[in-house]
Amino acid sequence: MNIAQYVKAKSLEEAWELNQKKTAVVFGGGCWLRLSPQRRIQTAIDLSGLGLDTMTETDTAIHLGAMVTLRQLETAPALLTATDGAIKEALRHIVGVQFRNLATVGGSIFGRFGFSDVLTLFLTLEAEVELHRGGRMPLAEFAKQGGGNDILTQIIIPKKKRRTAYTSLRLNATDFPILACSVVRTADTLLCAVGARPARAEVRAFEGTRGLTEADATAVATEVAASMNFEDNTRGSAAYRRDMAVELCRRLLLQTGKEEA
Ligand SMILES: Cc1cc2nc3c(=O)[nH]c(=O)nc-3n(C[C@H](O)[C@H](O)[C@H](O)COP(=O)(O)OP(=O)(O)OC[C@H]3O[C@@H](n4cnc5c(N)ncnc54)[C@H](O)[C@@H]3O)c2cc1C
Repeated sequence: MNIAQYVKAKSLEEAWELNQKKTAVVFGGGCWLRLSPQRRIQTAIDLSGLGLDTMTETDTAIHLGAMVTLRQLETAPALLTATDGAIKEALRHIVGVQFRNLATVGGSIFGRFGFSDVLTLFLTLEAEVELHRGGRMPLAEFAKQGGGNDILTQIIIPKKKRRTAYTSLRLNATDFPILACSVVRTADTLLCAVGARPARAEVRAFEGTRGLTEADATAVATEVAASMNFEDNTRGSAAYRRDMAVELCRRLLLQTGKEEA
């Protein structure tokens, strides 16, 4: 990677202005960017001076600045409580602690990676994103879009009474997931997300209390898997992923149901 000009942005507006040029690149932790094929970057935009590395809590939501690291997320008591520990389960497999001390939540969400554990979990938490110029929108909507040259400023997780469970399937520890599943159960809604199919994570919502019995959990999990596309790649076949999606969702549905009782 060859960077001609490095700018530590003094304001979000400056970062946004600089990012309107195709040759400019915003840096989160830089962990993914450094793997990109050799390229020439005219302007590297560093967001680290903008105070986006803090988490704040209100009565209704947890606000995560875009530069908050994955390690900050997995060790934050507020998030561990709000997700029944699922945040730790989703992040602990990602490379190693030193890596997670660098990789940011902003880079993870903005990248909309197909293999993303972060996206899979956050979709079920009904997170919203805030873009400097684009304003707030549901993550589920943002996740369907591609690229863009706005600046992601924060991710907002609404506080709710919910049960959360997360699991992933990996060939080796710390490898990318073959499949990632997350389930959230609130009093009247069930959310089930499947990622690493290997396409980007998608979420399905069901009204009411479903998936509490063995038979209904299998029915819901089958319905979720049937509504999504699965593909082959070097880590697994589409058929294997589909079968495993049914099984992992089924287990998470029962787990969240049990804990609620
Ligand atoms: C070897 C390796 C293994 C990994 N394994 C996993 C895994 O198993 N599971 C998983 O979920 N993730 C995994 N990841 C992804 C990782 O967790 C991060 O999501 C990734 O590194 C991006 O975060 P970053 O802070 O490094 O972003 P960067 O690399 O800095 O940026 C990523 C992209 O987002 C843009 N960007 C960053 N911040 C902003 C912002 N605030 N506004 C606008 N655009 C922005 C950048 O321009 C770039 O396009 C892996 C990454 C690597 C390198």
